[in-house]
Formats: sequence, structure tokens, C-alpha cells
Amino acid sequence: MKGVVFSFQIGEYGGEKKDKEKESGEMRQLNYLAGYPQQVTSQVNRLIAENRLAGFLNQTYPAAHDIRTDRALYDYAVSLKNEFLRSTQPLSRVIYDGKIQVIQNALGSHTFVSRVQGAKLKSKHEIRVASLFRDAPADFLRMIVVHELAHLREKEHNRAFYKLCEYMEPAYQRLEFHLRLYLTHLELTRQPPKQEQQLTPPLSTDPA
Ligand SMILES: [Zn+2]
Repeated sequence: MKGVVFSFQIGEYGGEKKDKEKESGEMRQLNYLAGYPQQVTSQVNRLIAENRLAGFLNQTYPAAHDIRTDRALYDYAVSLKNEFLRSTQPLSRVIYDGKIQVIQNALGSHTFVSRVQGAKLKSKHEIRVASLFRDAPADFLRMIVVHELAHLREKEHNRAFYKLCEYMEPAYQRLEFHLRLYLTHLELTRQPPKQEQQLTPPLSTDPA
């Protein structure tokens, strides 16, 4: 499915925050890019300052997706799993979760619960995807689902984990970086919270 993902116009940044941002100059704190080299963050800051971030994202990720329901998300995850990780255990549940906030340093989660029922060991694999991905470009949804599926094999974010992600999605590393740009964009265009005290802690480098 093709479509325009972003409904905003270029140049929409700012509103109430604009004056404050001007004061703080160009060295904006980029929460989603913590840990990235300064060369990268200053490039991103330049894109923001020149109002080019939205245009860049629109141009690079023009395709939306039509995976709106939990049922559709489950089918999507299962088909990716069947393509690449056929031998792993079945998924019991895949859902969008509106409670996963970026504040909790997570974009998705994967839980593996095993419990003994009588003589049997029952295990359940459940994947939750932050509901912001419902409206995100198709490539970003794919990236987060690939990430959570890779946890079926690798629990840690180690070398083997990222190799597996790249096996499923060769552009994985680029998508993860651009997802951070997308989240930065969302943060900049979101209505500022009413209470000034609600500060968003920086996102860790590890979603889920
Ligand atoms: Zn993870």
C-alpha cells in the first residue's frame, strides 16, 4: 500500500516552543540520538534548523501501511516469522499497545512466559508494538516487528541479535537510525504538555 504518511506541512515546527528553542540555539538536545557521534547530531540539528527533517522523512519513507488492527498486526508478524524464523516457537499474541510510551524507553516489547501446567511446560510468546507505529511509515513498522521477532532467538542485543535482524531486513541499521529521526520529528511537532514538569527522560539505545 502506498500513501503519504506525514500529514503535517514543512515549517510546522515551533508554535509555543519556538521562542524557547531559538534561545537555546542550535545545540538542541536530541533525546533519541543519545550516544550518537556529535558529527551526526549536528547534522540532524541542521536539518531541524532548516526545517528539512520532515521533508527528508517524507521523501525517504513515502509508503504508509494498512496494518491497523491487532489481528492484521498478528498476521503480519506471523508471515515475517514464517519467512525467516520458521523453526521458532509460535507467537501467542501480537498487539498494538497504547501504553508503551517512549517515556518507558521502549518501542516494543517481547515477553516470554513459561509456566508449568500439570506435567507440561507451557510457554507463551507475546509481542507488543507501541501504537505510534500504526501511523508510522511501513518500513518502521517492519523494523520494529523484525526487532521483536529476533528476540525469539536472541534475548540480548548482541552481535548475533543484530545479525539476525539484518538477515530479516538488510536495511535494519539504517531503519533504526531513521526511526530515531522520525521520533525526534514527532517530539518536535507534538503539542507541548500542559505541565512543564513533565520532562521526558532520554531514550536508552535499546528499545525493548
Ligand atoms: Zn530489544
